[in-house]
Amino acid sequence: MTGFPDEEIDSNNKNYNKNVTVLEFLNKQKGYEGKVAAFTSWDVFPYIINESRSGVPVNSGVEMISGKTTEGESLLNDIQTLYPSLASSRHDFVTYFAAKEYVKQHKPKVLFLSFDETDEFAHQGKYREYLYAANTVDGFIKNLWEYCQSQPEYANKTTFIITTDHGRGDEIKDEWRSHGQKIKDCRSIWLAAIGPNISAKGEVKTSGQLYQNQIAQTIANLLGFKYENGHEIGEAMGLD
Ligand SMILES: [Zn+2]
Repeated sequence: MTGFPDEEIDSNNKNYNKNVTVLEFLNKQKGYEGKVAAFTSWDVFPYIINESRSGVPVNSGVEMISGKTTEGESLLNDIQTLYPSLASSRHDFVTYFAAKEYVKQHKPKVLFLSFDETDEFAHQGKYREYLYAANTVDGFIKNLWEYCQSQPEYANKTTFIITTDHGRGDEIKDEWRSHGQKIKDCRSIWLAAIGPNISAKGEVKTSGQLYQNQIAQTIANLLGFKYENGHEIGEAMGLD
């Protein structure tokens, strides 16, 4: 989200990020003020995105949807209090449907959505649930894409970038549960993109190397901006 790795950040502790993420950068651009939002299952994101400084609303963890709520939103508030998740801070479906309600009402220009249950189920070694969570998220993405294509504000001018923050152990198969510096071959991640300027290539087989630090600038460029945050950041990827 910042286009570079900050080596001072070496834990999942809830410290406000000193760095300006691409979301904060976009939220300060003309026409984008108040049009950037984030919904996440993991409750560290208000710190990563630095909610109060950035002005980007971040609904995360078991956080009530506040303000004047729709019928759907008050049901989601009841669900997240009365039906706690055994895996993550909250069920990914609460994160998804809260985000969808927000999209319907506020029509954001940039939305960051982050799910967590695949990671948590994998850490617990629950392979069946892990696959179920991945498949469920696929369904959320499809549902949101179809919704966007049905809305004039979004149809044929919306891009989704779908990726993951880390891989999982692959070389030693039993280490699929985990990731981190001590786990072999978890450094590889995948990325998928769909949008009006992206040709449908299926799984890309051409050789080459892309890096996670290119994602922030790629997002900014798609919207016609050059993202800067005072650090050397990864170049945008060519997605066409
Ligand atoms: Zn993890």
